[in-house]
Amino acid sequence: MNAADWLREFARLVAENEDELTRLDAAIGDADHGANLTRGLTAVVAALDAGDPPGPLLTAAGLTLISTVGGAAGPLFGTFFLRMGNALGDEPDVEALATALRAGLDGVVQRGKAEAKDKTMYDALAPAVEAVEKAAAAGQSLPEAIAAASTAADEGCAATIPLVARKGRASYLRERSTGHQDPGATTVALLFRSLRSSC
Ligand code: ADP
Ligand code: MG
Repeated sequence: MNAADWLREFARLVAENEDELTRLDAAIGDADHGANLTRGLTAVVAALDAGDPPGPLLTAAGLTLISTVGGAAGPLFGTFFLRMGNALGDEPDVEALATALRAGLDGVVQRGKAEAKDKTMYDALAPAVEAVEKAAAAGQSLPEAIAAASTAADEGCAATIPLVARKGRASYLRERSTGHQDPGATTVALLFRSLRSSC
């Protein structure tokens, strides 16, 4: 796993899908998710020091996101990378990745208090983290674990469509939030798709 490649590819995918993320956030939010994330990840890539080991590199990316992106998702994705980076050793194998991803998810939950089926990024992130943990327990390789996580994130993301939002801006719409895919969960699916191509 190359953390610098991961962040570059994540930034590229988010920029490529900015209009789609904007469209999703326009339906159940305020249409700023694509622009917020693109701006933050542009700053992350600009500040990347590819010589850093993976942990400090992800921690730095998290701090950049927290300091450059307003709204809910910037601090939440920032906290995810910050906590993940702090927990990741220098040689990320499947076990280390599972531990670091769990620490990142715990940070997101501490900050946003989301639970399953609240229709947030949690609904894609939690199944992806669980998939890596399961792969680690089964002795699978890193690419196998990440492929499973990416599939789980895609499924979790699609599963947000029928949900009624209970957290974040979309919750103001109550029942009217149903029938739309959550923008943050969509970004999580891109996060794991980009991790897949960096291994
Ligand atoms: P804002 O809602 O402030 O405009 P964004 O549009 O950038 O921020 O991000 C919206 C996304 O943030 C949502 O689609 C959802 O996935 C995520 N989100 C919002 N609140 C929470 C929360 N409390 N916990 C986890 N994720 C959340
Ligand atoms: Mg928004």
